[in-house]
Amino acid sequence: KVKKENMEFQTEVNQLLHLMIHSLYSNKEIFVRELVSNASDACDKLRFEAISDDSLYEGDSELRIEVEFDEEANTVTIRDNGIGMTREDVINNIGTIAKSGTKEFLSKLSGDAAKDSNLIGQFGVGFYSSFIVADKVTLTTRRAGDKPEQAVVWESNGENGFTLEDTTKEAHGTEIVLHLKEDEKEFANDYRLRSIISTYSDHIPLPVKMRKRDEEGKLTEEWEVVNKANALWTEPKSNLKDEDYQEFYKHIAHDWENPLAWSHNSVEGKLEYKSLLYIPSKAPFDLWEPEQKNGIKLYVQRVFIMDDTKNLMPHYLRFVRGVIDSNDLPLNVSREILQSNHVVESMRKASVKKVLGLLEKMAKNDKENYQKFWNEFGRALKEGPGEDMANKEQIAKLLRFSSTHTDSEEQTVTLEDYVSRMKEEQEEIYYITAETFASAKNSPHLEVFRKKEIEVLLLSDRVDEWLVNGLQEFDGKKLQSVAKGELDLSKFDTEEDKKEQEEVDKKADGIIKHLKEVLGEKVEDVRVSHRLTSSPSCIVLNEQDMALYMQTLMKQAGH
Ligand code: ADP
Ligand code: MG
Repeated sequence: KVKKENMEFQTEVNQLLHLMIHSLYSNKEIFVRELVSNASDACDKLRFEAISDDSLYEGDSELRIEVEFDEEANTVTIRDNGIGMTREDVINNIGTIAKSGTKEFLSKLSGDAAKDSNLIGQFGVGFYSSFIVADKVTLTTRRAGDKPEQAVVWESNGENGFTLEDTTKEAHGTEIVLHLKEDEKEFANDYRLRSIISTYSDHIPLPVKMRKRDEEGKLTEEWEVVNKANALWTEPKSNLKDEDYQEFYKHIAHDWENPLAWSHNSVEGKLEYKSLLYIPSKAPFDLWEPEQKNGIKLYVQRVFIMDDTKNLMPHYLRFVRGVIDSNDLPLNVSREILQSNHVVESMRKASVKKVLGLLEKMAKNDKENYQKFWNEFGRALKEGPGEDMANKEQIAKLLRFSSTHTDSEEQTVTLEDYVSRMKEEQEEIYYITAETFASAKNSPHLEVFRKKEIEVLLLSDRVDEWLVNGLQEFDGKKLQSVAKGELDLSKFDTEEDKKEQEEVDKKADGIIKHLKEVLGEKVEDVRVSHRLTSSPSCIVLNEQDMALYMQTLMKQAGH
């Protein structure tokens, strides 16, 4: 009995498809990358599950991806013998349930087709990119281990929902047939497909196969591997070009842009592993969400285990992408084991050092790129001193700030720069925190510092309070807020300053007495300040008091 049903796409999926069909017309060929990438994920999953249940291979353990085309029928087919999907999987994964990334993706669209199509891979909406070139997509799939009759066909034109129908499929895995639009015929072409595959999929560790040609150039029944199919990280560095590293990055990070830097390592000795770590050039959409979708891909002896976002990198380096391939972990490693395993702990420690080293090198040799990095990821790195005490010093040197030295909102000042400009008598690093850059820069607390030409760091990122708390000091110099506590700046006074102050004190005697009487219990003390130059007065907090703006907020709330 064949059961066929019509189903509706979820609202956001519909919006997304509309976009794919009507406005994403640049970089069309990414559909190949996305579908091959899904096929490769499906093979990784099968290989992982088969570790504990060999029968899932059904006698066919040679995992592969096949790409075929039919010029006459104007179709392109992408097939894998990976894990496959049950009927329920299909409903959940493609169509009825919008994944967390979908909404976000839609909200990020700029209307610039080139930019927007770069977002597709990142947001985990890769499958739908089929509809950029196809006006009908037929997906046939069977979950490995299920019976041939448990297979299902999903079909859609991307506009009026989709149909699901039971079918029979001998081989496990998934086959996707793209019925190309009339004006996308160019993709049903041997040369075109091969070159797209070698551009995007050379270094995925799985063979991508196409039909072989005979001497006259006619297609035969035989298959040949068209990508290099080597696990890039296992290659010696000398074999690899920058482009190889860049394409591999795009594959694992689902990014369209080149990474800023990478570090490729082969570690031998007590522990044996290979790692390839990348610094992206753009922040992923979920950098500021509580959970991230992608992280470091963990392999054990070249078998993909999982995408790890918690154990292999600390949170403040959550933007790092890459692969760590261990020879010491057991193949059946679980998430629970990862959380408390000394092999993982050591690999993580060493990898953090690699990343910090990479950033240090960039900061020294490639200031322009480092600034790009900072503008994109600086606020994440500022979480570092509080989270990673062991590397506090090293992270501190990587930090960049706005300060009264430049008065510019762009954060370019290092703590080392600051220290080198400190006054002879100066023992502390002064900073001010505020909600916005403008209010930090224009704070009355700064007047006396400006007058005395003492530099003050201008902190206005939300993470900054947390940063100064975690950092406490740099190079033996305490970080000191200019808005908190008794600030004794008299050591910076010139003779002239002192004379002037005495006069002011004398003149103010009367008014201070008066103010104390009027304000009474409302304040702790009233005193003459030499902090200010042109503002008449300001409130000063005790060291333990909460930040000034909190008080302002409470006052506004009527306290
Ligand atoms: P992502 O790959 O980021 O999850 P996609 O839109 O590319 O997003 O794919 C959606 C989901 O559909 C995948 O997560 C997977 O569960 C399923 N899927 C897609 N292609 C395949 C395939 N070839 N084999 C098995 N499952 C697949
Ligand atoms: Mg995908």
